[in-house]
Amino acid sequence: MLLIKNGRVIDPASGTDATLDVLVDGGKIARVGANLSGTGGAGSSGAETRGEMLDAAGLVVAPGFIDLHCHLREPGGEISETIETGTRAAARGGFTAVCCMPNTQPVNDRASVTRGIVERAAAAASVRVWPIGAASMGSKGEALAEIAAMKDAGIVAVSDDGKPVATARLMRQVMDYCRALELPVIDHCEDASLFAGGVMREGPRSMKLGLKGIPAESESICAGRDVELAALTGATLHIAHMSTRGALQSVRAAKKQGLRVTCEVAPHHFTLLDEDVRYDSNYKMNPPLASREDRDALVEGLADASVDAIATDHAPHHPASKDVEFDRAPFGITGFETAIGLTLGELVHAGKISLPRMVELFTTGPARVLGISRKIAVGEPADLTIFSTEHAWTFRAAETASKSRNTPFDERVFRGGPMATIVGGQVVWRREAAAKARS
Ligand SMILES: [Zn+2]
Ligand SMILES: [Zn+2]
Repeated sequence: MLLIKNGRVIDPASGTDATLDVLVDGGKIARVGANLSGTGGAGSSGAETRGEMLDAAGLVVAPGFIDLHCHLREPGGEISETIETGTRAAARGGFTAVCCMPNTQPVNDRASVTRGIVERAAAAASVRVWPIGAASMGSKGEALAEIAAMKDAGIVAVSDDGKPVATARLMRQVMDYCRALELPVIDHCEDASLFAGGVMREGPRSMKLGLKGIPAESESICAGRDVELAALTGATLHIAHMSTRGALQSVRAAKKQGLRVTCEVAPHHFTLLDEDVRYDSNYKMNPPLASREDRDALVEGLADASVDAIATDHAPHHPASKDVEFDRAPFGITGFETAIGLTLGELVHAGKISLPRMVELFTTGPARVLGISRKIAVGEPADLTIFSTEHAWTFRAAETASKSRNTPFDERVFRGGPMATIVGGQVVWRREAAAKARS
């Protein structure tokens, strides 16, 4: 039994925003209310509190945060990350569930690979792991992957992330298939002919650095294609790591038409700009850092409900692969442990979005994409994220739980961040300083 006392409970599903206690028992939420004693059922006053008490005064208690987009690298990429290390980093970042992309080795394009991930997660993961299956075999853009069999094995969505679903024809097939199976199709939107070996956003900065640019239209053209196909097929489409105003306009238009189209934005895309890029591969990600106009559009979308979720696209790479020339380095940065701090700093403290809206972007928003519910209510699984809006701390890449260090946010000082992560009633991570200060 765990009693979380005096937290500011923010639950977007019910519109709750109040100082309350949450009592957890048997992995589920047992009671929510003021002045709970921790003795369980009514009428048991006077009984000794058995179990743990977590003082959440001054902290936010939210439904468990869900990350719709990460790369855990297992199987095949264990030099960069494993399910064990990646989910430990996720827990430190306040995430209680993470959706892992299928571009592993082998690619998660069949039930046997999905089962392997599910089994490994059951043995070694700190948080819930929800695998995403490939759309095509090997994510090669040719034959359909074993989508139905993977669904039975536990996938929650389908994507060829790392690259787009290669052709409109294949995307139509994937969508027809996934609509029947009620699986969302997640696309990494990119036009291969425009992308053409680019390494950062095309613009004055890429000219100055002499680096090959990727035009914004690479993303928006593919997003437009996908939205039209979602209209044609009636499938659920989710645009991954959206970084351009053009793609956002497609999503807005689709929502207006009543299509089942959603999107996510990654913290680095609302924090950094193409102007910030230097010859340091920690600034190299795909899609690349956007222009100021695009970044401002994303922030508007995050504020006005056009954007459904914040997702990290946590993409660990071992130093041996990342510490090379900008041109040759792989795309991607780590993201779990800095997501809450960046969102608070760039969006909430900056006055762009409210705290309840932030919670929505990490909880009910991603849950809606997956077709599940997420709330703090009696009988629900006790997955909870407890964070501070004020706690001052410094992120140090050398201290991350991830196996990789590829982040542009090393040594960044944050105001606010995760304090405790609870999965199925178990405290899977708790910030040391906080524990000490409050004991
Ligand atoms: Zn991607
Ligand atoms: Zn990705």
